[in-house]
Amino acid sequence: MNNKLEGKVAIVTGASKGIGAAIAKALAAQGAAVVVNYSSSREAAEKVVAEIASAGGKAVAIKANVAKAEEIPQLFTASEAAFGKLDILVNNAGIYEAAPIGSITAESFHKHFDLNVLGVLLASQEATNRFGSEGGVIVNISSVVAQLTPPGIAVYSATKGAVDSLTRAFSRELASRKIRVNSVNPGLVATEGTHAVGFVADVENPTSPLGPVGKVEDISAIVVFLASDDSRWISGQTLTATGQLL
Ligand code: NAP
Repeated sequence: MNNKLEGKVAIVTGASKGIGAAIAKALAAQGAAVVVNYSSSREAAEKVVAEIASAGGKAVAIKANVAKAEEIPQLFTASEAAFGKLDILVNNAGIYEAAPIGSITAESFHKHFDLNVLGVLLASQEATNRFGSEGGVIVNISSVVAQLTPPGIAVYSATKGAVDSLTRAFSRELASRKIRVNSVNPGLVATEGTHAVGFVADVENPTSPLGPVGKVEDISAIVVFLASDDSRWISGQTLTATGQLL
């Protein structure tokens, strides 16, 4: 256990699996008390909490569907009840479904935008209302697809383009309140999610960091940097992490 985030409180949305689970563990390993948010995978979230506790850290699991506006305040209220304050928000929860133009529906558009964009926006709003006078940090998990815009996944790419715009816009609005806003834009990372949709064959053995498929820890290390004072003069940035891709 190190202490870059000693005394800090962090909420990580969508932290029961994948990149979010790794971020929760990495923040806790630096001394932060962490809220492990999930929407349906309670057992997986409790497992992340147990792993953090057994490594000497502090965490609680809190259920909230971040795609539902009415559930977002409850997440922050429950977090405050558990840890008393808020310093760091990591907007990680997100979905991605491939669909070429002919298969895009209004329903899939709203499903993606409600979680990947509106969820980020409303959680950021809630966090900025709750950060103390010393300010706070927001880290958005965007994606390299915002720049690469690969074929067959336009709606998802559009959500991440919107996330990057929110990152830049909010960083400017919030700088005077000592709130920094940055995003990490990963390339393909081996997770439960990318395995489920067939993007990654082997979650346990992705290729090396400079190969085409990253590990969740390649992203969580960047989030620790952006959440800590080591990045105190960085805001409004989109940090692309893709190994050799871009
Ligand atoms: P994942 O393995 O599918 O895990 C998704 C996590 O989000 C789970 O903990 C899930 O919990 C939670 N979640 C889903 N819907 C939610 C909701 N409505 N409210 C709250 N939590 C919700 O995903 P991932 O691959 O780690 O991706 C995480 C983030 O990284 C996403 O924003 C994604 O766009 C971004 N990203 C991923 C990659 C990649 O290659 N993996 C690359 C670039 C960017 P429940 O099971 O409880 O719902």
